[in-house]
Amino acid sequence: MPAGPSTYPDQVNLDNCAKEPIHIIGKTQAHGVLIVCDPSTLKITQAGENSEEFFGLSAAQLLGQELEQLIGEDSAVDLKDRISKEDPNLSLEVNVKQRQFLMLPHLSHGHLILDFEPQDKQQRPYDFQKQLTSILNSFTAARTVEELCDSAAVITKEMYGYHRVMIYRFDEDWNGEVIAEQKEEGMESWLGLHYPATDIPEQSRRLFLKHRVRVITDVNYTPVPIIPEISPVTGEPLDISRSTLRAVSPIHIEYLKNMEVGASLSAAIVVKGKLWGLIACHHKSRKYLDHEQREHCRFLTRILSNELTLHVTKNEISNFELSENIRRQLVVQMKYHKDLFKALNGDTVKFTELISCGGGAMFFKGRWERSGNAPSKEQLENLLNNFIKPQSKSLFLTRNLSSLFPEADAYKSKASGLLSLKIADNKYIFWFKPEVVQIVNWGGNPEQKAFYNEKEKRISPRKSFKKWSEKLTGTSEPWRDMDKNIARSLRENVSHFVLAQQREEITALNKKLVEANKELELFSYGLSHDLRAPIRGMEGFLNILEEDHGQELSEEGIKMLRMSRELTEKMNDLIDNILEYSRLSHTEGIDAKEVDVSELLQEVLQLFNVTKSYPAATIEIEDEIPEMYGDRRMLFQLWANLLNNALKYSATVEEPKLAIGVKEIEDRQVYFVKDNGIGIAPEFRKKIFETFQRAVGSKFKGSGIGLAIVKKIVEKHNGEVWVESSPGKGSEFYFYLDLPKKKLEETI
Ligand code: ADP
Repeated sequence: MPAGPSTYPDQVNLDNCAKEPIHIIGKTQAHGVLIVCDPSTLKITQAGENSEEFFGLSAAQLLGQELEQLIGEDSAVDLKDRISKEDPNLSLEVNVKQRQFLMLPHLSHGHLILDFEPQDKQQRPYDFQKQLTSILNSFTAARTVEELCDSAAVITKEMYGYHRVMIYRFDEDWNGEVIAEQKEEGMESWLGLHYPATDIPEQSRRLFLKHRVRVITDVNYTPVPIIPEISPVTGEPLDISRSTLRAVSPIHIEYLKNMEVGASLSAAIVVKGKLWGLIACHHKSRKYLDHEQREHCRFLTRILSNELTLHVTKNEISNFELSENIRRQLVVQMKYHKDLFKALNGDTVKFTELISCGGGAMFFKGRWERSGNAPSKEQLENLLNNFIKPQSKSLFLTRNLSSLFPEADAYKSKASGLLSLKIADNKYIFWFKPEVVQIVNWGGNPEQKAFYNEKEKRISPRKSFKKWSEKLTGTSEPWRDMDKNIARSLRENVSHFVLAQQREEITALNKKLVEANKELELFSYGLSHDLRAPIRGMEGFLNILEEDHGQELSEEGIKMLRMSRELTEKMNDLIDNILEYSRLSHTEGIDAKEVDVSELLQEVLQLFNVTKSYPAATIEIEDEIPEMYGDRRMLFQLWANLLNNALKYSATVEEPKLAIGVKEIEDRQVYFVKDNGIGIAPEFRKKIFETFQRAVGSKFKGSGIGLAIVKKIVEKHNGEVWVESSPGKGSEFYFYLDLPKKKLEETI
């Protein structure tokens, strides 16, 4: 794309020019005659008013006539044949009243439109075929786009002899720039001039893309009306956009007259399906190009378009390869550096080399890293929060930042161009381009683009086409089309890097957490172990005190002695429980086997001496409780804790009832211990499985570790434990184990 600016001064709105219905202008140019026929009958339905001048027959005389009468039987048969083969587009040489014409037929919305152009002068100023090889040679010899356009201008000038031949290139906003020129001596050069986008409005560009070549033979012609103007067949104006004779929009004629142009030829240069530029030829006086010459021009432009496509694509590929190479190196750097700033702004390659820019910046987790010519941190902070973050797109680019964000005017020498890339929330990469102060040579003052023409009652294009220089500020070199894709690819790489890093961080944290937990468990194990000896000592001394000095103590003293003994007992229990819990934590192996649950339960109940300790309780154990797979010692502990709790927390009700059995829940064999005791409030149902968490007061003895031990054992057996309960009505503890045999063998 050209280095021209994207922001041009405000232009007078030429809306009526852009909206002019140029495809249905009901008039033609004067160098030929337009005849319209019904394609099935070949009866003439409309004719150009100038038919008399060429055929000696007025339009009125022609209307309703058979075409055959005009062009003769042979030609009519030939044409009919083409229509039946649906190929009415090729030209036909016909003879009308001893005059030779080239007839160019085409179909348009049910009409057969015939352009008749006289073939009076059999002049062939240029033998195209002979020159073709040298044209191809000079095109392929060109090394750059500019050289190619230069030779295209030379060839076009030689072939057609227009006074001025220009190669126009459009920028991304459709402003044109003359990048090559050939002209007659003495004419002022327009090379390097820029023309605003409105000089060639959108619909003209669309027609160019469709028809490729457009010739205006005589700017001073009088447009020829088509009689009648409205089609008698459809009742609508004719669409003659494909007719070579189509009249020219009055605004365009005036535009050409203002430039002192008498005739013109424009041919579309199309690169990758998009209008890239134009070959624009001007002649000071009338100039006619016949059909053959126009076809040659179409062919020439096609070759030029292909050559340009090759050059543009080659440039893109080599630029892309360069960038890809840098991106690959950045990816390698990302593998070796933990810090993203170092990875992307490393010693070998930097992210700013990926896209042509003056500097860049990165923002990650609240930190900034700047590189090259970049705004200050404060400016970046302001830009990010007040301009970038509110953007809906994650990729944003401009070459005129200050026109969108006026505060950026302060640092336009660093960041007139901005490409911003959002990687994730609070992760951004920026590339900046400095201001390039440009002198734009306008073809006339664009601010006087048009004025209201009182006489014609319409807007007229500007009168002056003198060179008009203007300084454009706050604008950078344009970004390339591929820059967006490059930035997007980098985003993918950086996202992977960030994700991998987060994964690593989480794994490291997890490891630390496990270690800390182990340490804590070892510590509590050690502590509990060490506390045992002094407590035994205390127990001993309390015994000695009671036995040897009991008589000396008062009743109060004896009571205190008893309480001290109870407390040491409680401490012993607590230490036992903590030791048990810790032991579970660092015993890795499980001595697993099939365990007979009924047998195990009997042992537990015997241990508790249930009949004596809980005489009121009834315990119902399901008859055939299936065997369990696990560590017998641990399972004993598990059942003991659950039964102990069930007995303990139902002892206060009148008829304590326990039920033990198995239920099938979601295809699992789930064991349960049910009681009708005090129950557990909902907010405690999860907590009670944590160490030292109790849902009761001191009325019930306990250390708050029993269920934590239960949970640990269940988890060691790949199972789960939970409780369902209603306060005051009882609780039901459930658990299942899921230790696979394979795993079991491995762990033993
Ligand atoms: P504790 O030594 O306090 O019984 P546990 O860890 O075994 O410690 O139980 C934690 C808490 O869970 C108990 O303090 C009690 O509040 C509650 N709890 C446990 N089992 C039952 C149950 N069967 N009925 C009511 N509450 C229970």
